[in-house]
Formats: sequence, C-alpha cells, structure tokens
Amino acid sequence: MPRVFNFSAGPATLPEPVLQQARDELLDWNGMGASIIEISHRGPEFMRVAAQAEADLRELISIPDDYAVLFLAGGATTAQALIALNFADPGQAVDYVLSGHWSKTALKQVRPYVDPRIAATSEESGFRDVPPPSSWTLSPDAAYVHYTANETIHGVEFHDVPDVDGAALIGDFSSSIASAPLDVSRFGVLYAGAQKNLGPVGVSVLIIRRDLLERSGQPRAEILDYRAHVRGESMLNTPPTWNWYLAGLVFRWMLDEGGVEEFARRNARKAALLYQAIDGSGGFYRNEVAFGARSRMNVPFFLHDDVLNAAFLSESKAAGLLALKGHRVLGGMRASIYNAMPEAGVQALVDFMGDFARRHG
Ligand code: PMP
Repeated sequence: MPRVFNFSAGPATLPEPVLQQARDELLDWNGMGASIIEISHRGPEFMRVAAQAEADLRELISIPDDYAVLFLAGGATTAQALIALNFADPGQAVDYVLSGHWSKTALKQVRPYVDPRIAATSEESGFRDVPPPSSWTLSPDAAYVHYTANETIHGVEFHDVPDVDGAALIGDFSSSIASAPLDVSRFGVLYAGAQKNLGPVGVSVLIIRRDLLERSGQPRAEILDYRAHVRGESMLNTPPTWNWYLAGLVFRWMLDEGGVEEFARRNARKAALLYQAIDGSGGFYRNEVAFGARSRMNVPFFLHDDVLNAAFLSESKAAGLLALKGHRVLGGMRASIYNAMPEAGVQALVDFMGDFARRHG
C-alpha cells in the first residue's frame, strides 16, 4: 500500500525521510549494534542525540540563551496543569484568553490551584474568531497571561504575538510551533505537545524564560518541578528516548528543508489553496472562521448538506486522502496541514473536493 496523504490533527503525518531514517536505524543505530531506544539515556550515545536535538530546535526557532528548553514525557495537557504549579502562587490570579476548545482545557487544568480570570473570550461567536488583544482585560496581580496560539479544533489562529504590556505571556503552540518565524523573546513560556509539528506523541517541548524558574510556585513533588527538570537536563527520570530521538530527526529535516522561513512560505501557499477551494465552491463547502483568524494549520469545513458527509469521507479515503473527519465538537470535516503535509497533498485534496462537488452538486 503506498503512503496516503494523511490530514490527521494529531498524532499527525510525519516527514517520510524521517520515518525512513528511523526505520533504517531501528535495529542498529550508528554502528552500535543496538537500537537508540535500547540503551541508557545517560550513556554518551543518547546524550549526544538529546543534545543535538536541543541545539537543532534552538537553531530552528531561534531560542535565545536566556530560555531553558525541556523535553518531557506527557502531553500538553500535563504542561497546562504544571504551569500553574510552577509559575503562580497558591490561589494567585492568572489570566486566560479563551479562543476555543484547547484554551478552555488549559483553564480547566489550573482551577484547583489558582484563581483563573477570563481576560477575553470569543465563545459568544462559537469560537469563529479570536478575541483581539486590544480587548483583553488583564489583571494587574496576575502571575501570567495564557493563550492558545492556534486552536486545533476550531481552526482559529492568532497571527501575531499579543502585546501584554510586560506580563509573562504563556503560549500553547501545540499545533503551530515551528510553522513560521516567531519572536520567542516575547514569551515567558512556550509549550507544545510534539504530535503535530514536531514528532510523535509522548514528548512535550517547553521553552521557559529562565527568570520565571525563580518563582516559588506551589508545593509540589520534584518530578512536577520545572526547575528540577532544568537542573536535571530533562533526565530527572527516564525520558521518552524514542520520541526525543524522532523529534530530533524532524528538527534536522526542517533545518535541511530551509527552516521555518521556508515552512512559513509553504504553509501560506497550502492554506491559501485550500481556503480558495472552499470559498470558491459556490457554497458547496464553507469555512465559518473570521477571515483574519483562519488557521494555517487546521482547516475545518462543512459540506452544504450533512447527508453528503459519509460519501465525502469514504470517497476521499478511497482517493488516498486520510483522516478528514472533523472533530466531534464541531462535526463536518477538518484538514490538518502541518509542516510535514506536502503541497502535493493539499493539491490532491483540492482536486478531490472539486471533483466531488461536480459529481454531487
Ligand atoms: N493544546 C492544543 C492546541 C492541542 O491541539 C492539544 C491536543 N490536540 C492539546 C493542547 C492537548 O495535548 P495532549 O493531548 O498532548 O495533552
């Protein structure tokens, strides 16, 4: 079976050269006679892989030296809870901007520990837009401001880093990290689960401005303490070595392909092609997101008649286009077009959509 174009929202498609390299190295890494996932994480071989991955990520997204980088087991949801434990005092105010499902999840995780305030929300629009940063009501006593840069389900994205007037800005970049150049120095913390743009599920990346690590936070076990993880170089306990190694291969692939500037160009072209196909379909397909907030990564769309959904899904699958079913929260369809989705994949989807509309219109 040839590989198909996989539009899954995450775990998501990985670059084919990365999968090939991982396959080739799986039984014998670098002449060692053993796999990289069969050896100690503290041995020189894995330490080299780990250090290279961090160096490559730092180069890829231009992480300044005064930021620590962590590769930790667990998903973004775990990070969402740990952020409050590490960076806010017990019961302290924290500001949350709600722009969709994942920012609501982030808020839910911190309720036991802090006093979350909703600085802004676009829920009244059904999360079809993002709350403009000029409308955010920030609390002067808040430990930080949290927002979700790209909402994977609702398909809305902040295209600029919000100005929060010197507050510590925390951004969930799970579904848009490394998809375009970003000024990391504008953030207190950036975090992302790996399974969309960085690699396989099971590891999360955190990028933390070092001065925030001096905050005392809440009483917590050492394993929940980011300071301890930074001191232990993400190896307080056994790290997810396979995931870390694979993410490292993805970073190298992105650098070799031309880095985030090149991916920004490709991603802009892919998104433009798909949105044009939707907008130009004469109402056969529709995307409901406000124009300026449309995500470049996740494109939810609906057919004019839900009766056609089943045929759309089965015919697209037969055409080699996988995982277009929308998230159950919204229904309809969703195409996730992360860095590893080639332009040819989006072209194939657009061609299929045109053909489907002609046959069923
Ligand atoms: N934030 C965003 C933006 C996401 O897309 C997701 C997962 N789809 C999460 C958080 C939660 O990530 P995880 O499942 O790794 O905990």
